[in-house]
Amino acid sequence: MIKEIKIQLRDDKREIPQDISKVKFGKTFSDHMFLMDYNSKDGWHDARIVPHGPIPIDPGAMVFHYAQEIFEGMKAYRRPDGGVQFFRPYENIKRMARSGERVSMPAMDEDMFMEALRKLVEVDKDWVPSAAGSSLYIRPFMFATDVGLGVHASDSYLFCILTCPVASYYPEGINPIKIMIEDEDVRAVRGGTGFAKCGGNYAASIRASKRASEKGFSQVLWLDGVERKYIEEVGAMNIMFKIDGKIITPALNGSVLPGITRMSSMELLRSWGYEVEERLISVDELMEAAKNGKLEEAWGTGTAAVVSPVGRLTYKGEDFTVQDGGIGPVTQKLYDGLTGIQSGKVEDTFHWMEKLEK
Ligand SMILES: *Cc1c(COP(=O)(O)O)cnc(C)c1O
Repeated sequence: MIKEIKIQLRDDKREIPQDISKVKFGKTFSDHMFLMDYNSKDGWHDARIVPHGPIPIDPGAMVFHYAQEIFEGMKAYRRPDGGVQFFRPYENIKRMARSGERVSMPAMDEDMFMEALRKLVEVDKDWVPSAAGSSLYIRPFMFATDVGLGVHASDSYLFCILTCPVASYYPEGINPIKIMIEDEDVRAVRGGTGFAKCGGNYAASIRASKRASEKGFSQVLWLDGVERKYIEEVGAMNIMFKIDGKIITPALNGSVLPGITRMSSMELLRSWGYEVEERLISVDELMEAAKNGKLEEAWGTGTAAVVSPVGRLTYKGEDFTVQDGGIGPVTQKLYDGLTGIQSGKVEDTFHWMEKLEK
């Protein structure tokens, strides 16, 4: 439990966006944010909810120089009865602890973390949108605040939670994306930080994303960092293929981010009777399947879009269309299944949802 969360409400009431479809992802923040400090002497202390705004930070703080930073991305949804619920929040809390361990940052007690999430969302409950497919995106993150340019683990950290009302990723129904298989840059290697949700991984990935975007692709599909032979994941999503009736997703080998949407998708697909394999899948196997018509569907999974159908793949200048560029039946069923449970419209037989109201 947190000893005390000090709450300082803002006095300048801001407008809550009425038409959520006009809000760009992650550009509009709710009224308040949660902050808490850590150092080895005092542990976690000074928990507070304050108006969203700039935080004073010394330019010598270690995060700016050595990128000791981790984050999470999760969502809370407005239920049809008006209440609010989180999707598998303890999975994000556990993952943040694993990310932190990799980059030598302190973990937080799980109940303490959940308490912070609850309190913040409660304070800004009116910011949780209710339009179809909309949600409150929650961004917890933590970074090193020791001042000094020596390279070592920082002793002090700031933990912060921001929230943003977000519209459905697909206002007019899910839309197939075009992805480029990246054969030059790599995102992560085994033994590195690929499995951790840390800002540094993204810094390494932006160049390829930028190049792909200039060529008209919405995402990059990463190959393994050693041989550039095996499929890893897409931008901020894990990837799944339906090949010859079976669903295949790259195994978690240390460089792939263990997505919670990925895990939930596998559970849901298996409960529906699909065979799901987690294994190495080479880009050659994928291209072969695409050429001989066995690649039936492809989709990405991640918190932001939930499920993204892949309509086109490009590798070394060769183009492949999946499902004639449309949406496959399993992709659609998975999207409807997951978003149904998240929004409270479909019974939560997996007990994934955590109500805000206790
Ligand atoms: C967050 C993230 C994912 C998706 O994880 P979810 O828990 O499903 O949101 C996939 N890949 C990367 C690189 C990520 O950062």
